[in-house]
Amino acid sequence: MKVTEHIKQANGKTLFSFEIIPPQKGQNIQELYSNIDPLMEFKPPFIDVTTSREEYVYIEKKGLLDRKITRMRPGTVGICASLKYKYDVDAIPHVLCGGFTKEETEYLLVDCHYLGLDNVMALRGDAMKHEKYFSATTEGNKYASELVTQIKNLNKGKYLNEIIETPHYSDFCIGVAGYPEKHLEAPSMDADLRRLKEKVDAGADYVVTQMFFDNKKYFDFVEKARSIGITVPIIPGIKPISIKRHLHILPQIFRLDVPEALISEVEKCSDNKDVRQVGVEWAIEQSKELIASGVPVVHFYSMGKSENIKSIASAVF
Ligand code: FAD
Repeated sequence: MKVTEHIKQANGKTLFSFEIIPPQKGQNIQELYSNIDPLMEFKPPFIDVTTSREEYVYIEKKGLLDRKITRMRPGTVGICASLKYKYDVDAIPHVLCGGFTKEETEYLLVDCHYLGLDNVMALRGDAMKHEKYFSATTEGNKYASELVTQIKNLNKGKYLNEIIETPHYSDFCIGVAGYPEKHLEAPSMDADLRRLKEKVDAGADYVVTQMFFDNKKYFDFVEKARSIGITVPIIPGIKPISIKRHLHILPQIFRLDVPEALISEVEKCSDNKDVRQVGVEWAIEQSKELIASGVPVVHFYSMGKSENIKSIASAVF
């Protein structure tokens, strides 16, 4: 079922959902299941599965280093299919512009359609690890808005090279990313919001936000989005801090602010076990306030670990 239908059916009740990261190549899917199992009691209507960018690896060959390009965490669509059939849940693959030609994207979307996946999350993707800036793949989509257009076209039977009249159209519900503290490359908040509007105008059905630690940033973002005519659901994304280093790496990666009160609580912790507890308590307070304000869903970034998400969900759902 589509995310928008889940929201409609919930009739004002806030839903619980989360995002997982595919395991590294060579690992067993059982570990993934054991992280998801404890969260299923909170009845997530959907689970997102990320897609990672390809990266360079160096392989030694006869004393020389050979540079190869590889994807360390493949399997997004396969994992979505396995979650759908194991848990009877809607699994949402993240589809990226970066690293894929439009044709590869078309094949991936056809796979998703055959597997009965009703939703896809359309994202540009970040720069590769060795790159300073994102560079679009040759023959690929440059911005998420272009990817949304490609998906929307497929929903109408418009493939890249032909129009196919068929009763078997895909009908993907499309999610896109939004940034309550502005995307790191955007020249201003207003400029970024105009880009978000372009994604919605191209056909996006809902928005999931980047993580934030201060709810006011989310509330202001939603207000501004509404004021420029973005009417689709805007789902807040929450990540509980779990290690002290998060105080430095999260602002560096995502250009977001950590509130003083949270910094001070984390700094008082003597080990990461205490930090996890602080992160859980902060996320509980954030979630309670978001739910009280009537958000459609609280979406958690699990980063492959379910223990802290379970503690938060137990307190608020
Ligand atoms: P876009 O919407 O294309 O925007 C990218 C930048 O370009 C913005 O600064 C925007 O303002 C600007 N822009 C947009 N259109 C134009 C235009 N026409 N002309 C000029 N500038 C323009 N990354 C992954 O690699 N894998 C994942 O699975 C993944 N999942 C995510 C899930 C969520 C909920 C979020 C919030 C992010 C996720 N990301 C993921 C990260 C995301 O790929 C990055 O934040 C990326 O840098 C931007 O993606 P986007 O889809 O927002 O890009």
